[in-house]
Amino acid sequence: MIQSLLLLIVMAAAAHAEWKVGAAKVKITPDEPIWLAGYGNRNRPHEGVLQDIFIKAAAFRDESGSTAVITTSDLVGLDKPTLEIVSRRVREKYGIPRERLLFNYSHNHSCPVTGEVLKLYYPLNEQQRGAVERYTRKLYDWYVDVIGKAVEALAPATVEFEQGLAGIAVNRRRSRPGGRKLPGPVDQDVPVLTARSEGKVRAILFGYSCHATALSGYQVNGDYPGYAQEELEKRYPDAIALFVMGCGGDANPLPRKMGVTDDEAVDLARMYGKILATAARQVVEGKMSPVAGPLRVAYGEARVPFQKAPTREQLVERGRTMTGPAKRYNEFLIKELDTNGKLMDHYPYPVQVFEFGDSLRMIGLTGENVVDYCLRFKQQYGWERTWVAGYNNELLSYIPSLRVLKEGGYEGTEGIPEYGLPAPYGWGVEEVIAERVEDLVRSLKP
Ligand SMILES: [Zn+2]
Repeated sequence: MIQSLLLLIVMAAAAHAEWKVGAAKVKITPDEPIWLAGYGNRNRPHEGVLQDIFIKAAAFRDESGSTAVITTSDLVGLDKPTLEIVSRRVREKYGIPRERLLFNYSHNHSCPVTGEVLKLYYPLNEQQRGAVERYTRKLYDWYVDVIGKAVEALAPATVEFEQGLAGIAVNRRRSRPGGRKLPGPVDQDVPVLTARSEGKVRAILFGYSCHATALSGYQVNGDYPGYAQEELEKRYPDAIALFVMGCGGDANPLPRKMGVTDDEAVDLARMYGKILATAARQVVEGKMSPVAGPLRVAYGEARVPFQKAPTREQLVERGRTMTGPAKRYNEFLIKELDTNGKLMDHYPYPVQVFEFGDSLRMIGLTGENVVDYCLRFKQQYGWERTWVAGYNNELLSYIPSLRVLKEGGYEGTEGIPEYGLPAPYGWGVEEVIAERVEDLVRSLKP
């Protein structure tokens, strides 16, 4: 009896000693006037800073010495060139391959425009484009720096996971084709992963599935995820708090905007941040489940089909009634068709899986996943040990589920032209992605 108890204690100690974790952050607040991202109706560069914005990184190294890094940011999204440039430099400098890097963004709508993210969305003049180019070059350095700092900070830590709850996200698709309907589903889980050492919390990764669109003005800020992170870092001064966006494609923090003054909007954003931080804090202070290694990762691409692309005549025809971003993208498609003779018939869609032993499976999807992806994978793989993060890699478009695609509406079909894609996704979109996730999960079975 005593012997087995001793053995248990030794095993517990071993399980806790196997991780090294390091976290870091770098400020990315712009220092010159620059266009803010996410909305197509802004008409001038930013004016002032309400809150600093950041890129953050958390590095995890298991007993075998293999390292993976989760990066988060107060950005609306990323583009392929940024991902390629940063990944290459990180591989050269730190020896970490692309599949071991997760690039999540909060989809914040009060951050600068970068690179080619929604490149035709904004009516930029040459000078304004210059500011975006200068900022984007700095962005590459910031990403490489923050990943390097997290790796340098690697130190023994215990890792734990648990899910909390917060009621901020509202399904925004009540008005959709066919008229007003009952509100749709949301995912209000707050997954939390902590790293602690010497009795202190060192890193808090916490997630939520909801657009970062409480604010829409001209001041730089991190929206509700920014306020939530600020609140947690105030509460845990030795920790870096990293917000991981989930499947918030069809959710907004509500109420917002309509009938709300600018000051009231800021109050709401702060309040949503406080609610989310409180939910995360309840998890951090409560009983969490220990997370053991090893850390295994897999990266693959799903071949996501598009519906039949329009002909040149159809593009010209539909362009007649278009305005703003959709019109600019439509002209871009016509040019592409004239140059290449065809438009894309599928998208090579990145999918990632990070397995923390058998304690936690993090599924990383690409673009603006609607809520069904979170709910589906948590149902399929067990919600208590599954974390589904949408909004990684390039911000290619909304990613509707089959349900949302059939319903149509903004996230299903109507929003697609704004992203410069030739046609809505094919009926296979959800299944093709789910199959690829399952392939990766199986490939990681020990
Ligand atoms: Zn969005």
